[in-house]
Amino acid sequence: MTLPMTVPAPGLPARVRIHEVGPRDGLQNEKALVPVAIKAEFIRRLAEAGLTTIEATSFVHPQWVPQLADAEQLMPLIDDVAARLPVLVPNERGLDRALALGAREIAVFASATESFAKANLNRTVDGALEMFEPVVAKAKAKDAGAAVRGYLSMCFGDPWEGQVPISQTVSVSRRLLDMGCDEISLGDTIGVATPGHVRELLATLNEAGITNDRLAVHFHDTYGQALANTLAALQHGVTTVDASAGGLGGCPYAKSATGNLATEDLVWMLDGLGIETGVDIGRLTATSVWMARHLGRPSPSRTVRALSQKET
Ligand code: MG
Repeated sequence: MTLPMTVPAPGLPARVRIHEVGPRDGLQNEKALVPVAIKAEFIRRLAEAGLTTIEATSFVHPQWVPQLADAEQLMPLIDDVAARLPVLVPNERGLDRALALGAREIAVFASATESFAKANLNRTVDGALEMFEPVVAKAKAKDAGAAVRGYLSMCFGDPWEGQVPISQTVSVSRRLLDMGCDEISLGDTIGVATPGHVRELLATLNEAGITNDRLAVHFHDTYGQALANTLAALQHGVTTVDASAGGLGGCPYAKSATGNLATEDLVWMLDGLGIETGVDIGRLTATSVWMARHLGRPSPSRTVRALSQKET
């Protein structure tokens, strides 16, 4: 199969951890309801392709996310998968359900802006943080011992408010870490960020005492900037990047937001730069082609399209 020529560039990390969000962030935003056995096979195949962190599902109420209403059935089907399998939880009840099913890593989700906090959680920014505080505390307590990721939406722009001040994103990030989150995923939910903006936000976070090892980036390709922004983050020293196999998903509450960064597009760039990910791009592409067939539409990932057209 076609692979990029490996030509390293200076000032980049030797290794990147990809936080795969396809089964959760991807499928929750797909119209089609995917049977639980297919989801389990999807996660298994992603792990076999070399992904080490795969966000598996969500314990948000099924009324809000019917696509992931089968979390309870899914968990036992994937308990032998050799990867970190974080799950999204909205509240203490969701946390209890997740922990009872063996979840060892969880994610909570906050917003950098009031408008999105209201739209997504029907709360103020403060109200949402207050809601997650006991969840994070309980997850981190000795008997639970779960790792906690904090998603932060609208870090670079908001569909209602427009530009988002960097200081605002930094202050909510700080509060998520202070309440016990191990890592913050900085979300460009509507895909408007550009590389200078990324660098400026990361530099300001560092100045506020938040080190790169606590940060991940979550870019959307709405305006075609996801890979450029990722490269800027890598040059800045961030080594955890969120991506979605085959480019699955967007965000149901922000209409203009389409296109998670596709994992294959990311791996193509990282392979070309000689940055280790452990991912086999051929196996990953085959998995996304297989999933696209289940969803009844082609993958939006350009790398998946290019490689699968060449191979078939
Ligand atoms: Mg996303």
